[in-house]
Amino acid sequence: MTIATGAGRQTGASALWALALVLAVAAAFGAYVYLAEGRSARAPAAAPEPAEAPAEAAAAGWVTDGRVQRADADDPGMWLAHGRTHEEQRFSPLAGIHRGNVAGLGVAWLKDLGTYHPVEATPLVVDGVMYFTAPWNVAYAVDAATGAELWSFDPGVPGETARAACCGVISRGLAVYEGRVHLATLDGRLLALDAGTGSKLWEVDTVIDREREYTITGAPRAAAGKVFIGNGGAEYGVRGYVTAYDAATGEQAWRFFTVPGDPSLGFESEAMAVAAQTWSGGAWWEIGGGGTVWNAIVYDPDFDAVYLGVGNGSPWTRAIRSPGGGDNLYLASIVAVDAATGEYRWHYQTVPGDNWDYTAVQDMALADLVVDGVERKVLMQAPKNGFFYVIDRSDGTLLRAHPYATVTWATRVDMETGRPIENPDTAYADAPQWILPGPGGGHNWQAMSWDAGRGLMYLGTHDLPFLYAMPEEYRETGVYKRRPGAWNTALEFGRLNQMIEAMENLPENKGYLIAFDPLTGQRVWTVEQAHAWNGGTLATAGDLVFQGDGTGHVSARDADTGEALWQAQTYASIVAPPITYAVDGEQYVAIMTGGGYLPDEAAATWKYGSHGQLIAFKLGGDVALTEPALRNLEIPEQRPITASAEDLDRGDVLYHEYCWACHGPGAKSPGGLPDLRLMTAESHDAFQAIVLGGTKQDTGMASFADLLDAQDVERIHQYIVSRAVKDRDAALAEASAAATPAE
Ligand code: CA
Repeated sequence: MTIATGAGRQTGASALWALALVLAVAAAFGAYVYLAEGRSARAPAAAPEPAEAPAEAAAAGWVTDGRVQRADADDPGMWLAHGRTHEEQRFSPLAGIHRGNVAGLGVAWLKDLGTYHPVEATPLVVDGVMYFTAPWNVAYAVDAATGAELWSFDPGVPGETARAACCGVISRGLAVYEGRVHLATLDGRLLALDAGTGSKLWEVDTVIDREREYTITGAPRAAAGKVFIGNGGAEYGVRGYVTAYDAATGEQAWRFFTVPGDPSLGFESEAMAVAAQTWSGGAWWEIGGGGTVWNAIVYDPDFDAVYLGVGNGSPWTRAIRSPGGGDNLYLASIVAVDAATGEYRWHYQTVPGDNWDYTAVQDMALADLVVDGVERKVLMQAPKNGFFYVIDRSDGTLLRAHPYATVTWATRVDMETGRPIENPDTAYADAPQWILPGPGGGHNWQAMSWDAGRGLMYLGTHDLPFLYAMPEEYRETGVYKRRPGAWNTALEFGRLNQMIEAMENLPENKGYLIAFDPLTGQRVWTVEQAHAWNGGTLATAGDLVFQGDGTGHVSARDADTGEALWQAQTYASIVAPPITYAVDGEQYVAIMTGGGYLPDEAAATWKYGSHGQLIAFKLGGDVALTEPALRNLEIPEQRPITASAEDLDRGDVLYHEYCWACHGPGAKSPGGLPDLRLMTAESHDAFQAIVLGGTKQDTGMASFADLLDAQDVERIHQYIVSRAVKDRDAALAEASAAATPAE
């Protein structure tokens, strides 16, 4: 429920500026690219290098397969694709900024995005132009050296779409390919824009069923003449799939479903017939089945394959989803498909019979690695479940599976069978259990970076314990009916906050940045972070690891030790990954800021609210970042509570069914979206009109009239007032105790 006022969504003026850059900058490269001593340039990709017409190379956004494959050698100053190259290693060969001079980094330019929504995107840099998306999928092209806007494009995502997005109005990026910008929208469309002007070239609807809550938050990937896109929605009850479109025309090339549909209707492919053998007993297709591919889709030029990172089940609990047991393919799996046809090649399932929201959608990095004396082409991933996988991408053979975070749901992965050994002590079917990782994962979508020279992966990890509890009614009956428009996890959420508040000695949230050796499972260094939810990483040939964190700091660390060599405070929590690029011989580091997840006083978002910006740093940059006003957290005096104890209890349950995911547990917002305890008198008066009438739907607060009636809304309202009174009284008592001198 978005109620308080404040900086709202981007309306995107879409001023179309002529792209007046001189793009023939390739000749300038080389001067600033020097590799650090003792390192060698990595071998160029083995795949064939397509020929390109020289005339076309002058066009804006002219990214080709060959150019991405030769990026280390020919375009080290570019960030051409989501993970920089097809391999998505997020390692830059630029070394102009290094351990010896990084202390001199300062802000070169910044761009205010005017948003309080989480900012998670990776910008791309092609020939001196930076392309990126802000919340609501507003796309921008700016001069990468100055931040001056060249064009912007607002795809006009309806505000009420926010209700169908589990985790916010999020966009993780766009693709630039052969003169086009490919933009996917929260409401499920895929667009191609002219990279030079931002004008729309084509648009397709990727959603197969508009009655279901499909959303797109991930970045499309473009390669081999196609654009690949998946979607999210498994919390609401959907069936996952990925679609490939012809990049030039938008014509559909293929679609790969990740879980089987209703068997009585037949199967789309042999892969679905095989998968259906691993589901049993329930009508999973009615709830959806899940398996959404909402983040990683990686193209491999070595095998002309696409790797799909497949998500969790719909619903989360397997006792409801597939009561007869089974692995439930291809949930929580990495699936390799043929890039040209979408035909299944192989899969590796990280979590057979997912029961915990353990997605395998996290970023994947491709590399050549010597494993046990054998040179292998590998894929590496740290999915939510806490194990770090090294997989042979020629056939899906599991090579390593060491834990990278605290894991209690399983004891280990059996390397003979490739299957995890579940820990019977944490089974939650009969009694609630604190389990690690929780649905936040031991690591989530935040990008990781691979330093091939050191054989280390740098990634943010966390211990975010979650109380898994199955509501009694489902446990006893085994019957669950999908609720359109609501979360369909078949887990306890309505009473979860009450259960947790009644407990003592709650487990702590912790966050770490680690340098991880995937072959030995060793953490070569570990930084314990002040906040548990932090940003992605970037590694460079300057022997540096860059990361933004929840406290608002961007840091550069020594790749060998983790020691912070430079820090800047941006006053906004950071979850997005940094990138680096060069223009005219000058190296920059850029990062998007703004976000928030945990109501934690260490978070910049808690202190200041969330202020989305794109900030570019360079050596000697001298633009000042100014501290914003502190968020006013003083809870106003409340109206008298008129509801009965039963109505307040019902309001509590309804709030934690429908409202908490955006506005925070216990009506305590982490910042960013409005904290309802701080509502103004006007918002209290308008509460019914906002929640049922949808008067603020343009900001993302859609009507809930399909799920709630006026009486329920008043119960929720009274519950929020009761929380405000409780927290206000506690704050007043604390202030009074602090003012009274000790005897
Ligand atoms: Ca999920």
